[in-house]
This record gives sequence, C-alpha cells and structure tokens, in this order.
Amino acid sequence: MHLSVQTLFLAASATRVLASCAHGTFLQPRAEEGGEVKVGTFGYIGTIGPLNWAALETANMVCATGTRQSPIDMAGNVFTLLQPADVQLTVNDMPDGAEFENLGTTVEVITQGGSLAVAGKQFELQQFHFHLPSEHLDNGTSQAMEMHMVFQSATQEIAVVGVYIGIADGAAAAAAKRSTRIDRRQSVSTAPTTLLETIFSVVDQIAVPGTKVKTPPLVMSEVVDLVKAQPFQIYSGSLTTPPCSEGVSWHVSTAKLGVSPASFVKVRDVIGFNSRFPQNTPGQPNILMISALGSAAAAVAVAAAPVIAPPA
Ligand SMILES: [Zn+2]
Repeated sequence: MHLSVQTLFLAASATRVLASCAHGTFLQPRAEEGGEVKVGTFGYIGTIGPLNWAALETANMVCATGTRQSPIDMAGNVFTLLQPADVQLTVNDMPDGAEFENLGTTVEVITQGGSLAVAGKQFELQQFHFHLPSEHLDNGTSQAMEMHMVFQSATQEIAVVGVYIGIADGAAAAAAKRSTRIDRRQSVSTAPTTLLETIFSVVDQIAVPGTKVKTPPLVMSEVVDLVKAQPFQIYSGSLTTPPCSEGVSWHVSTAKLGVSPASFVKVRDVIGFNSRFPQNTPGQPNILMISALGSAAAAVAVAAAPVIAPPA
C-alpha cells in the first residue's frame, strides 16, 4: 500500500499542471500571442480530480492543506458586503472579437484590457473563463454556471470577480418574481445575456481541447454595467484550480447573468464538468485533512475487525 501510493505520487509529480484559473497571470504566463493553446493536465474526475490535486505536483500541496480555500458556500457571515460605490470596474470592448480557447479544463476568453480598483489597489484584467456548474454556492444553491474574471496587480496579487449564470428561461424567471421564497436565488435575467450568447455561439468550434477560435465582436458594457450596479460578496480565498494559491481576493457579484437553454446545452457539451467541490469555511481546517483522519480511522477499524466467515 505504502509503495503504490508513493509510486503514484512520483509519477504524478512529473506532470506539469497548466491552464488553471490563474492562466495568463504571473503563475501561468500565457504563450506568445498566436501560439499554441496549452491544455491542462489536472482534471475534475478520478485520480486527476480535485480530491487528488495535491498529489499531482508538490506545488499543489496547499490544495489539501490550505485553510482559506475556494470555492465556498456563500452563506452566513463568511463574506463582507462591498457596495458598488467602493468598486471601480472597467472592461474594454473587443470590436474585432477575442481569442476564445479550450484549455481542456475550461473555456477562456483572452481580454484586451480592463481594470478593477478596490480598497486602494489596482488590478488589471487578464482573461475570463467559465465553470459548469457554478463553483461558489449562492447560500447553499448551485447555479448553472459561473464566470470568473481574473485580475492581477503590479505586485502580483490576484483578484477574481465571480458572476453566477442562471438559465434564462423567461417563464421560470417570471414565476420566481411572484415567489418571495425563491425570488433571490432565482433572480436571473429574463433575457439571456447578449455577451454570453455571442461567446457561446462559437463554443462548438472549440470542442477539442487545445483549439481556439475568434469570437464575433464583444460588447462588455452590458455585463460590466449590470455587475457594478450591485454589491459584491467579498472574502479572501484561493484559486479554485491547482496550485490553489491563497491570498486571492474574491468578489462574488450579487448580480446574475442569464444563458439561454440552447446555449447552456451547447457549452455544457464542450465543458462537461469543471467545478471544484465546496471547501471548508475560511479559517477552518482543510476538508481533505479532516477526511484523511477519517479514512485513517476507518482503515484501522477495518484492520482490527475480526474476519467473519460467510454463512455456509
Ligand atoms: Zn475559475
């Protein structure tokens, strides 16, 4: 048992982990413009999935030991509410379209300028990408998708703006408005967000990991205006992908975007599944450390249990 675990660890250490949420930042500089798209070697299922990221490379150890890991359930008092007036967010339009890449672990739009100014700090936009289903939970509830806009400061700090994406079903949205109980969680746009529909109109052209396509012209003001008009739920967490670095300044928007059912199916068929499981409350022990203790106790109990002969 000891040998096999060690062998697995050594084999996994030889791999390079690429194409995470931090793609395009100092942690994972992007290849030259026009270069090939590097595909991630971690994944979301089985031995390369989030339960085992720490074993894939020593640099990923914090995935299993960190005590401020993301994503989390945005419930109770794990976050602070930041009012729109305290945030300045800009994202440049891309009138000639943008490069849209399939990194194997997500689909990502390479942006052409944008900034986030908050608490006296200035961050520059690097890219935005998508998770399906959402990584953060909106007070216990998973959303159809989540968009991550990744920013980096001159001092190499990372800030991410996370925006939930709901299925923009006109009838469901209207029904939600009549119900006070589910109103907040279901409050998606009655109309699909044009930016998302435009981007996802070409997602089927990058179905194969490592491929890229040029999007139609992208107008960012629709989403930026929506997001910066609502408060942000902020907390200090981590990258949700290897190497799970902490000190990431999370800004989860309380505004929601909408995707049409047809576009959702289209992007789902390309992404499949790319959501890390919810982590423990910030400041609490890493859930994998707790789980390891439980597994060890179970292993001892199994070893100590008397062998019971099957009935004759
Ligand atoms: Zn992400």
